[in-house]
Amino acid sequence: MACRQFDMAADAINLPEALRARTKYPRRSMTVSLPIKRDDGRIAVFEAYRVQHNLSTGPAKGGIRFHQDVTIGEVAALAMWMSWKCSLAGLPYGGAKGGVVVDPRTLSLAELERVSRRYMQELIPFIGPQIDIPAPDVGTNEQIMGWMMDTYSNHIGRLEPAIVTGKPVALGGSQGRREATGRGVAYVTKTLLDERKIALAKTTVAVQGFGNVGAETALAMSEYGAKVIAISDYTGGIYNKKGVDVRKALEYVKYNRTLKDFDGGDAMDNEELLTLPCTVLAPCALERVITDKNAKKLKCRIIAEGANGPTTNAADKILEKTDIEIIPDVLANSGGVIVSYFEWLQNLQSYYWTRDEVMAKLNTMLDKAWFSVEAQRRKMKFSRRLAALTLGISRVADAKAARGLFP
Ligand code: NAD
Repeated sequence: MACRQFDMAADAINLPEALRARTKYPRRSMTVSLPIKRDDGRIAVFEAYRVQHNLSTGPAKGGIRFHQDVTIGEVAALAMWMSWKCSLAGLPYGGAKGGVVVDPRTLSLAELERVSRRYMQELIPFIGPQIDIPAPDVGTNEQIMGWMMDTYSNHIGRLEPAIVTGKPVALGGSQGRREATGRGVAYVTKTLLDERKIALAKTTVAVQGFGNVGAETALAMSEYGAKVIAISDYTGGIYNKKGVDVRKALEYVKYNRTLKDFDGGDAMDNEELLTLPCTVLAPCALERVITDKNAKKLKCRIIAEGANGPTTNAADKILEKTDIEIIPDVLANSGGVIVSYFEWLQNLQSYYWTRDEVMAKLNTMLDKAWFSVEAQRRKMKFSRRLAALTLGISRVADAKAARGLFP
């Protein structure tokens, strides 16, 4: 899917043949084995990956996913999208991604710590604050980033907070990083609603996925004055036409881990949620949930892609013929990597900003990315996704062309 998108974008801007393969393929792909002692004394070995897609425009940057369905192909696609996302946002980074084939819910806390530390240990020869800087993604969180930072720091014999982002604030994490991705999704959605003169008070929102990105998107949209009518996680969804109390749902998930049996509305399944009549549909879970099978049934006005790759290329083609507007992932969820960049900068300088400073700088960078995409869209008569991808890709390709080829 990511490769087809690249081919389409490269064709649309006539990217020279000599640059195509160089820009498209990952620079390094690694598979490592993680042998771990289980709590009962048995040894388990988990397969794990790190793909550095582009290192030409700066150190690589990208999250680490802990999920039972992770494959190296998925990690490579996510790494490629990170390259375009960083480039579009004007960050001095290339793209990367990592993953461990494990369902973190099946591990005890001590086992989770051992998997996290062993993964970092295996990556040490290939990463560093000026080479590749991991961050959280699906199934990983601040605590895991803290363990990874500690493992790296112990290895080199001094504290190195800039090795990962998305850490706890107590370890040099940035104010605002936890909520940055979801807040960013809500901010660009509000920008589009304002442009279309759709009042927030009349906006209804359905959010799929209630983890870091989904919960913060729902919370920010409700704080803006929109009505969140549906939320969901892997256990299923909750629908309430009067509006779900997002804070209450967050409290519930804090103690119960999932939304299962949350009494803030009626139960609904994840597929139904996607086709609800609403103003904004925010898929914030996993990739490829909007497909050629359900695209025709969508009844929203805007799709705000909090997740990476939630819309397949076939669904995109169907949606292009409707009046549904898509805010593509590389733009919509870039708030996360933007504040990760701020965190890295603060770590390198040992000089820390307030939450207000972080949020103000985030909004400025999102505005810049938004307006550059809108300008490209109008100038080239592209879809918003193609506009975002062509900008991201062409900046990486230009840098590669300017650097030349070594040796
Ligand atoms: P997370 O692990 O915090 O949350 C994932 C959520 O999705 C959970 O609520 C889970 O229950 C739910 N989920 C899983 N499978 C589902 C299914 N089949 N149907 C419905 N819900 C399901 O992960 P996250 O960090 O919120 O990431 C979500 C998406 O956002 C991913 O695509 C990720 O790559 C992307 N993203 C994350 C960040 C970040 O900063 N964390 C930044 C940019 C993009």
